[in-house]
Amino acid sequence: MPTSRAMVIVGAGHVGGRAAQALRQGGWTGPIVLIGAEPHLPYERPPLSKGLLTGVQDAASCALRPAADYDADQISHVVAWVASIDPVQREVTITGGPQRAERRIAYEALLLATGGHLRRLDIPGADLPGILGLRTLDDAAQIAARLQPGQHIAIVGGGFIGLEVAASARQRGCAVTVIEGAPRLLGRAVPEAIGVRVLALHRAHGVDIRLGTLPTAFERQPDGRTRVVLADGAVVDADTVIVGIGIAPSVELAVQAGLTVQRGIVVDAQLATSAPGVYAAGDVAEFPSPANGALIRQETWQNAETQARVAAANMLGQGIAFDALPWFWSDQFDHQLQVSGEPALGVTTVTRPLGDAASIDFHLDADGRLVGVSGFGPVSVVAKELKLARMLVERHRQPTPAALADAAVKLKSLL
Ligand code: FAD
Ligand code: NAP
Repeated sequence: MPTSRAMVIVGAGHVGGRAAQALRQGGWTGPIVLIGAEPHLPYERPPLSKGLLTGVQDAASCALRPAADYDADQISHVVAWVASIDPVQREVTITGGPQRAERRIAYEALLLATGGHLRRLDIPGADLPGILGLRTLDDAAQIAARLQPGQHIAIVGGGFIGLEVAASARQRGCAVTVIEGAPRLLGRAVPEAIGVRVLALHRAHGVDIRLGTLPTAFERQPDGRTRVVLADGAVVDADTVIVGIGIAPSVELAVQAGLTVQRGIVVDAQLATSAPGVYAAGDVAEFPSPANGALIRQETWQNAETQARVAAANMLGQGIAFDALPWFWSDQFDHQLQVSGEPALGVTTVTRPLGDAASIDFHLDADGRLVGVSGFGPVSVVAKELKLARMLVERHRQPTPAALADAAVKLKSLL
């Protein structure tokens, strides 16, 4: 392979950082250019809503790799915005950076790892100061400073950001109200049984959760607080409002370059886009599910971690298919939920009770095949069991429903 052109990665987030590492480990000896808009080396985002807000972790502990490793691997980290891609000339154009001038960089292969950006509410007052979102380290620092005991935090969105921030804020002694438009929590991401238990957990910890109502306006009060006006006529006065209503994948560059884009940048099983030599991975990529080939997008740590490595291998010409099943976790208070595989493909559920209000649901398809697992409970009770359950799905094991339901049968023995 010629080494005059660089391996270029757009987006210095989880995928970008891990792919740069994998390219060097995979034997690429030419330049690697990692371009990101944030002024940080790649870091992991899960602690931003958890340990960074409760104060048990600091920013340095979120780093994907130590700074010295980028020097050792001769990875050029460029803080700049990639403004366009020319898939014919195989170049990207960047703006910003130290010279502030436009610059073109020729690529051997290109990875789009642009993740997503926060969706915004389109209601009066949505741009008032004190209405915050959470995606970056800088966002987390701003929010952490506001989680002082006695402060009232209103959170719009009962998804992962909303609930993890709610738990962290309660742990910091704040009063917390969560406003969710749907009649249940975590509607898109977890089976209903878990949503119900997550709701009970938060209410038991004193989180005021309002379901089935949406904010219609934010109003600044004379005392500097923000009034959240709800569709049901209620109002919530808060010191800080955090909006966590999901992300939109950052597909703009791909659209401009004429790549195929649907609900994300469409890639094949090798994570190749419709343009030669251009790959996409992570939150932004819409890829064929290893379970059934349907196009899906995943916004999870594990997806970022594994797709980065597969994309890098394929940028080096290895032709590897991405075949990892989905998996994610969420920590709230002392509880954890995990979902692996694709529970939505299941038609029957077998429940394994684990005591202490913990359980695992095994999701079976019409042929009785195990297609997904979901579980929730105190971390100390469920974490190890859920890992074993995930391995059952990953290894395509097909235990009998009776064995899955019987807590006396060790999951390890079913592997
Ligand atoms: P990102 O990490 O978003 O990185 C994309 C980067 O690209 C950004 O830095 C962006 O600035 C940059 N960029 C975009 N466009 C351009 C451009 N044109 N030019 C230059 N740079 C650009 N997952 C779990 O499984 N479990 C968890 O507990 C969990 N917790 C989370 C908590 C929070 C607060 C957040 C925000 C996410 C969490 N996730 C969790 C999800 C997980 O962190 C993401 O799925 C993962 O970060 C996606 O990585 P990525 O590299 O695709 O995108
Ligand atoms: P999310 O999980 O998609 O949840 C968004 C929530 O906001 C949903 O409950 C959604 O309800 C609601 N919502 C959507 N539009 C709304 C509107 N206009 N008004 C009020 N509510 C609205 O997204 P998120 O919690 O904001 O998280 C953002 C990103 O961070 C995602 O990529 C997520 O995966 C990631 N993250 C992951 C974890 C984890 O895996 N543990 C933790 C934190 C963050 P409907 O579904 O009814 O629309």
